[in-house]
Amino acid sequence: MLEEALTYLASNMPAFRRSLETLSRIPSISAAGYPEAEVTRSAEAVVKEMLAAGLTHAEVIKLDGVHAYAYGEWLGAGPKAKTVLLYGHHDVQPEGRPEKWISPPFEPTERNGRLYGRGTVDDKAGVMVHVAAIAAFLKGAGGCPVNLKFLVEGEEEIGSDNLPRFLEKFKAKVQADVVVLTDTSNFDTGIPALTYQLRGIVAADITVSALDHPVHSGMWGGPVADPAMALAKIIARLTHDDGSIAIPGLYDDVAVPSDKVRANMRSLAYDEKLFREQAGVLDGVRLVGESGYSTYEKVWIRPALSVNAIEASSMAKVSNQIVDGARARIGIRIVPKQDPERISRLLVDALRRDPPFGCRVEVEAARGTPWWQTNPEGPAFEAALRAMEKGYGRKAALVGCGGSIGFVQPFTDVLGGVPALLIGLEDPICNAHSENESLHLEDWKKAMVSAVHLYAELAKV
Ligand SMILES: [Zn+2]
Repeated sequence: MLEEALTYLASNMPAFRRSLETLSRIPSISAAGYPEAEVTRSAEAVVKEMLAAGLTHAEVIKLDGVHAYAYGEWLGAGPKAKTVLLYGHHDVQPEGRPEKWISPPFEPTERNGRLYGRGTVDDKAGVMVHVAAIAAFLKGAGGCPVNLKFLVEGEEEIGSDNLPRFLEKFKAKVQADVVVLTDTSNFDTGIPALTYQLRGIVAADITVSALDHPVHSGMWGGPVADPAMALAKIIARLTHDDGSIAIPGLYDDVAVPSDKVRANMRSLAYDEKLFREQAGVLDGVRLVGESGYSTYEKVWIRPALSVNAIEASSMAKVSNQIVDGARARIGIRIVPKQDPERISRLLVDALRRDPPFGCRVEVEAARGTPWWQTNPEGPAFEAALRAMEKGYGRKAALVGCGGSIGFVQPFTDVLGGVPALLIGLEDPICNAHSENESLHLEDWKKAMVSAVHLYAELAKV
C-alpha cells in the first residue's frame, strides 16, 4: 500500500496545491467582529476536501455559539487495526496591517519557493498535509493500514475554549490509539521537529490610580503622586537587572529536567547571530535571563515574564499633565510542575504589594493556560521520528515550545493519555500571526510524504 500511496501523492501534488490555495482564499477569521459565515464556509470547504480524499461521513459540526468544526473519518482498516486521530484548524488570525502585506492576505501568492497568504502555514497547510496523505492511501492504494479520524477546529486562534466541551460531547466518536496534532513548528526550514513540551501562561491586569482626573503638571507637579511613575516602579521590581524574575518563590516548583533532556537540548544546533536576527533583536541589545541556562532552556523550560501592554496616556494626545491612572498587562510563561494558580497568586500579590506613594492598585488575574509535557519515548514517538526522517531526509529534532497551545491538554484528557504527536510546518521565518505569513512549499511536500510514512509506521506499532 505504501508504494502506491507515495506514487499517488507525487503525481497529485498540483491538485493538493490548488486545494490549499482554495482554502487559503477564504478569510476564516475566528476573532470577534469578523463574519462567522466565512468560518462556516471554510469548514464546508474542508469537508469537501475530506470527501474528495475518500473519508466517509465527513460533515460540518456546529455547536451552539461555537465556530464550525469539520470532521471526517474512515474506519475501513477494521476494529483490530490502530486508529489515528488527526487534528488541525481551519480558522485564521485577522490580517493585521493591510498596508504591510506585499501581496493581499487572502490571495495566496508564490515568491521564492514560499506561498504567501494568511493561513497558508497556520494551519491550512497542516490540514492539507493530512488531506493529501489520506487521499494517497484511500484513492491511491484503495485503503489505509490505520483507521483515520480527522478533526479540524474553527476557533484555535481564539484559544480553543470550546474544544473540551466538544471532545466531551463526542468522546466516543473521537476515541483513538494515538493523536497527531499538526500545528507546531519545525526546528528550522528543512529540519523537522517533534514537540514534547509547551509552556503555559498566566497573566494579570493592573490598574494604578492616584487622582480623580488628570491635572496640569505645572500647577500640581511636585506634591501630587504620579500613577504612571508608580506603575513603572511596580513593573521594575518584578525582574532583576539580568532580566530574571524577582517575584519571591516563583522558581520554587520549576521542574529540574533530566540530564537526558538537557543533553538533548544542548545537542541542538544553536547560532546566536541567527537567533538574534530571527527575533529581530537590535544591535547592542543584550540577550537576558537567568545565568547558567542556554537560550533553548530559557525559552522552553524556564519561566519568563513580559509586559504585554502598558497604557497611561498616548503620545498623540500628550500634554503637560499628570495622568489620573495607568494600566498594564503582565504575562508569565510557566513551565512544567509550576502550579498556574500558585503562580497567578504570586503575580497578583507582587503587583499589589506596597503600592508606591500609597496609590490605589487594582489587580485582576486573567484566565491562564497550563503547561504541557509528554515523555517522547515509546513506539509511537519512534514511529513519528522515523516517518519524519523518511519525509525530510534528515533526523527530526525533539523540541520544546515556548508558547502555549490550548488544544493539546483537552485531547490527552479525553483520550486517556494516549501518545500525542505534535508536528507542524512553521519555520522561523514564516511570520505566522503577522503580516506576510508564508509556507515553505518544499517542506510542505516533505511533510505530506512524512504523513504517508507516519500512517504506515503507526500501523506497525
Ligand atoms: Zn495554528
